[in-house]
Amino acid sequence: MSLLNVENLKTYYFTKRGPVKAVDDVSFQVEEGQAMGLAGESGCGKTTVALSIIKVLPSRGKIVGGKVSLKNLDITTIPEKQMKNVRWKRISLVFQGAMNALDPLYSLGDQIVEAILTHESKINKKEAMNRAEKLLQLVGIERNRLKSYPHELSGGMRQRGLIAMALACNPELLIADEPGTALDVIVQAQVLNIMEDLRRKLNLAVILITHDLSIIADTCDKVAIMYAGKVVEHASVSDLFEEPLHPYTQGLIQAFPNIKSRRTRMRSIPGSPPDLLDPPMGCRFHPRCPYAKSLCMEKEPSAQMAKREHSVACHLYHDT
Ligand code: SF4
Repeated sequence: MSLLNVENLKTYYFTKRGPVKAVDDVSFQVEEGQAMGLAGESGCGKTTVALSIIKVLPSRGKIVGGKVSLKNLDITTIPEKQMKNVRWKRISLVFQGAMNALDPLYSLGDQIVEAILTHESKINKKEAMNRAEKLLQLVGIERNRLKSYPHELSGGMRQRGLIAMALACNPELLIADEPGTALDVIVQAQVLNIMEDLRRKLNLAVILITHDLSIIADTCDKVAIMYAGKVVEHASVSDLFEEPLHPYTQGLIQAFPNIKSRRTRMRSIPGSPPDLLDPPMGCRFHPRCPYAKSLCMEKEPSAQMAKREHSVACHLYHDT
């Protein structure tokens, strides 16, 4: 049984202009100790998937279909009271932007201790402080930084502090939403190395949300590519980079520099992602796809296995 099973998840935002289909029929699994990358352009629904998994959607967001299971616990149907035993204790989320996610009025130590005390009733403040110290050491921050306020820490330290806080209650799954945003490349690499280390040490499953495929190539076992609220390709990292099947994935890979291959000009994907209030008929990528044919404008391609453990939703491979 997978640790996390997302089946046909649909999450919409209900606006005055109509429902925005931010996540529309998304499925994937994450195994214990596995790292999965969730990639795609901004606005493709990656963060909404994360918010749906831990059920912290903004007031206009609603899960309207599908199921999210953590082992045999159906998260989508459990009441909010029971959800408190899932957040932090079983699934933690590291939000984008460390400065905004930390409270500027409290020291890093106090914030970690508060997270522990809020979610674990059998622990006292001294024990929580000891655990906070160990967590900081785990992410490479000296214990004397427990008393530091967010503005006294560098961007990398704040991000590592957030990771420490997310691990405060020993979760089985960590979701990291753009953990490298706003960090320079060297600090970003340090943060990602620490996450990779922790994953191996703690047998932690990780969902890494990013628009940067090179980060996924370095740190993940498998990857799901999202476009306009849908997963269009899902494969192991090695399969996806060796032979990307979906034209959107191919475009994304060509848009990133590759220091290992011969020098080629980077190419961007023409056009922009669709308005999810009124997505295009058929394949949502068809207005930007160089291979689009009439079928693509009429019929939505379903995700099917093109190869073992490599699925793609594209008419080039099926329905022809
Ligand atoms: Fe392109 Fe058609 Fe495949 Fe969509 S289904 S990605 S439009 S070829």
